[in-house]
Amino acid sequence: MPNPLFDSLFGVHAGKTTPFLHLLDGSTITHQDFLEMAARTANVLAQIGLTAGDRVAAQIQKSPEALALYAACAQAGLVFLPLNTAYTVDELTYFIDNSGASLIVCDGRSKDALEPVAASLNAKIETLNPDGTGSLSARAAEMPTRFATVDRSGDDLAAFLYTSGTTGRSKGAMLTQNNLLSNAETLVGEWRFTKGDVLLHALPIFHTHGLFVATNVVLASGASMVFMPKFDLDQIIAHMPDVTAMMGVPTFYTRLLDDPRFTRELTAHMRLFVSGSAPLLAETHVQFENRTGHRILERYGMTETNMNTSNPYDGERRAGTVGFPLPGVELKITDPESGATLPPGDVGQIEVRGPNVFKGYWQMPEKTAAELRSDGFFITGDLGRIDEDGYVHIVGRNKDLIISGGYNIYPKEIELVLDDQPGVAESAVIGVPHPDFGETVLGVLVPEKDVAPDIESIHEAVKTSLARFKHPKKLIVIDELPRNTMGKVQKNILRDKFQDMFA
Ligand code: ATP
Ligand code: MG
Repeated sequence: MPNPLFDSLFGVHAGKTTPFLHLLDGSTITHQDFLEMAARTANVLAQIGLTAGDRVAAQIQKSPEALALYAACAQAGLVFLPLNTAYTVDELTYFIDNSGASLIVCDGRSKDALEPVAASLNAKIETLNPDGTGSLSARAAEMPTRFATVDRSGDDLAAFLYTSGTTGRSKGAMLTQNNLLSNAETLVGEWRFTKGDVLLHALPIFHTHGLFVATNVVLASGASMVFMPKFDLDQIIAHMPDVTAMMGVPTFYTRLLDDPRFTRELTAHMRLFVSGSAPLLAETHVQFENRTGHRILERYGMTETNMNTSNPYDGERRAGTVGFPLPGVELKITDPESGATLPPGDVGQIEVRGPNVFKGYWQMPEKTAAELRSDGFFITGDLGRIDEDGYVHIVGRNKDLIISGGYNIYPKEIELVLDDQPGVAESAVIGVPHPDFGETVLGVLVPEKDVAPDIESIHEAVKTSLARFKHPKKLIVIDELPRNTMGKVQKNILRDKFQDMFA
């Protein structure tokens, strides 16, 4: 019986004693071992009474057992709903309630707090602790190592993934089997993954990057991964010699570059470094190449669409760009007001269409209708342009656009100038309320380690490179930019903090 996602990513490895997960204690979990873990877990899910289409909400630390829960959901035809481990009980209550989950899998430490939530929703609760113990594993240990895969079609839901909440309340994106599978297969081809690859996996598995991009690419290619519970510089450096590829958020790369042990020799054998989830500064790209000789391959995607664009594997990986639309993905730049396609080179909203694009937001029909057009194009909420060579540039998020005195101002353009100034490590430009202009430009600077930025001369420098309406009214120095777990700058926090600056 067919179940495209399970069959192609997991079932295909049945009986193989090839490595799948290399753990930090030196042990290895083979493909067959992993399939048995998954089948045991799927048996528990069936015994609990879950049937095809039911949601399984999981707030659990990264572990092989956690990954096996994902596989078990695929095998049992359930919708996997991983949740950020940082969420508090109040936040979890929203997600669990919103999704109508039939089962909650949580850390043993959260069980008491979640019991009332489970009871009010008539949901079952099982525990899975960071070390792999817990009621779910205890039950799985008693189960057979085989499970009759539940029939599904490519159009059936495989996962609900909540967006990162960078611009507002997280939304539950409904992802089908085909959404996930088509993207995994495309990326394997684009990034040349083979069964000989070993991926360094230090990303969380509650987000599309670590779960669907990294894990599914490894599964679809038959490769293996060094599976780290979290990003740990010492561990990353210790295991670099064992791997062929790494995927990370930009902060992984800046932290590696800050460490003198991260050298050309250490990375000489590496085949690929991929970055995404947040913009990689062009400067990081250049520093990385100077240090290692490798050019980071930057790609662009989101919870709702998986991956949309990628810099080329062969050919120029252009710093500050996210490359070309992936095969099968259409991308256009449109006028936010009229929706009309803009001439090449113009900045507008990025829209994408393809087998990767989700089905809609769970129980948010108005939001779905507003962002997912009837012709299949999804309005990403990002602003960008396509350059003369076809590379896509992201200039920021629609919600971060500053409208001052009737002019549209793209923060990225100003940030690029600020980042170049002596003493500035990085910057964030935001719009804050202003009595005359509606909004005005505020520049927030993070100083470099040993040099303090000279604010006066930065104002001067800005004057020579940017039109007057783009000049920051004020420059403020803070120790670090607020970032979420995926390394995304939380401009909403900055806007809240500085909203009264000119009021
Ligand atoms: P929310 O939608 O809840 O506000 P979010 O958009 O941050 O949160 P994700 O789906 O995790 O949630 O992130 C997708 C977004 O991340 C993209 O829309 C884009 O703004 C940003 N992004 C991803 N990759 C890149 C990249 N390479 N360069 C610039 N931005 C990127
Ligand atoms: Mg988003």
